[in-house]
Amino acid sequence: MAETLSSPPPLHVAMAASEIIPFAKTGGLADVVGSLALALERLGLKISLIVPCYRSVLNGPFQIEDTGVRFTVPISHRREAGALLRTKIGDGITVYLVRADRYFDREGLYGTPDGDYPDNAERFVFLSRAILEVLKLDPPDILHAHDWQTALSVALLRADPDLYPQLSAAKTVLTVHNAAYQGIFWYLDWHLLNLDPKFFTPGYLEFYGKINFLKGGLASADVITTVSPTYADEIKTPVLGHGLDGIFRERAGSLVGILNGIDYDLWNPRTDPFIARTYSPGNLAGKKACKSDLQSTFGLPQSPDVLLVGMVSRLASQKGFDLLESGLDEWLSRPLQLVLLGSGDRRYQDFFTTVAMSHPEKVGVKIAFDDPLAHKIIAGADVVLVPSHYEPCGLVQMFGLRYGTAPIVRATGGLRDTVQQFDSRQGAGNGFVFSPYEVPSLMEAIDQALDTFKRKQDWTTLMRNAMAADFSWDRSAQAYLKLYRRLAEG
Ligand code: ADP
Repeated sequence: MAETLSSPPPLHVAMAASEIIPFAKTGGLADVVGSLALALERLGLKISLIVPCYRSVLNGPFQIEDTGVRFTVPISHRREAGALLRTKIGDGITVYLVRADRYFDREGLYGTPDGDYPDNAERFVFLSRAILEVLKLDPPDILHAHDWQTALSVALLRADPDLYPQLSAAKTVLTVHNAAYQGIFWYLDWHLLNLDPKFFTPGYLEFYGKINFLKGGLASADVITTVSPTYADEIKTPVLGHGLDGIFRERAGSLVGILNGIDYDLWNPRTDPFIARTYSPGNLAGKKACKSDLQSTFGLPQSPDVLLVGMVSRLASQKGFDLLESGLDEWLSRPLQLVLLGSGDRRYQDFFTTVAMSHPEKVGVKIAFDDPLAHKIIAGADVVLVPSHYEPCGLVQMFGLRYGTAPIVRATGGLRDTVQQFDSRQGAGNGFVFSPYEVPSLMEAIDQALDTFKRKQDWTTLMRNAMAADFSWDRSAQAYLKLYRRLAEG
């Protein structure tokens, strides 16, 4: 009988995350998983996504279908029930929505400005077990988990293989988007996991007497990735490994840094529906209109000649706000305006709200999570400031580059990998970079920006250099594709 030639089925990668755009977002994790999924689909992979069915999903503008699948998972000595809903993104990406309203139908994803939800251990044990139930229905070649909230799914798969025989051939990838967030819970929560006590040991889930979900995933995953080459080195050091540097060093042979991309369709100054006027590198006139619109949005004087500094950020200490706090008098003394859009820690909310109230002609602050306003800031500001203490990759500086809004960044993680110091003599570089985490060093970068801003020709060169950078997903998605193929074949 003649053999029929047919191409092998596409590689099937199931990505699980606690937030994915457009369904739920508190930070870059959501952007990355959502846009990476689309880029991988364009490369021909079969992609499925798994994400909790939060209130933002239930109330959102999505076409959701009930699969009819109901499941229970072990939590402590009982079983907890969930339902499986489904929707689609891209051409044919199935998005599985894990519905369990007692866990996920809440105002926030992880907590309130005053702290985390007290039952987060249980919520994310549930999610991790639920992920494995979903995968049983359509087993992937690769389970790709992201961050601590889903890292446990990888650990549970390896620790409890008998519960998941359908997944015995699946390979696992765990991406660390931020090693400081590990999902650490006290040992009294151990019963929730239903694992043999032999897994509550330092080689596995135990971390100085507590349970560490991320660590369990790191110990179990076939491959670990993180979101920039520099960060892949930094997490092997005590300062930025946040206590896990030992395991990152141990697993160095299976650890790779792949720089994130950004979605060039969603973030495009030529077509952005949220900005006052669209523009392009060849025609920058629209950017002036965006600046004046942004100044008026924040009630600032609409002066084209004052350097307008934009910030869009989670309000967390990682992001460098204490530098702005201790350098307050210094930067307030400069001829600049600052607009900040942020949500997060109460202490930074209070600080910046007070500064804006006492300096309304210089500082505008909005405490909210507001995606359209984020676009207006990225388009309308002259520079975008990202003074992070550490930054695994960072997306905001890449948005800035795409919009000709030069980044001022600290040389750490992905900021270092994406921004090069502007040199006016060579006409090279796309932003301003400072290194020591100190006020004088930050001020030096701000002063360089102020100085360059005065020289219009140099500033235009800088804007064009910024816009010439390419941080679209295509290159990074190729790197993931290679990694998946190697794993699936190996
Ligand atoms: P992180 O993931 O550490 O928060 P990233 O720079 O990787 O930092 O990603 C942050 C993402 O969240 C970007 O898409 C940014 O625009 C968005 N973002 C952060 N804070 C806000 C906010 N208050 N309103 C709207 N978007 C925000």
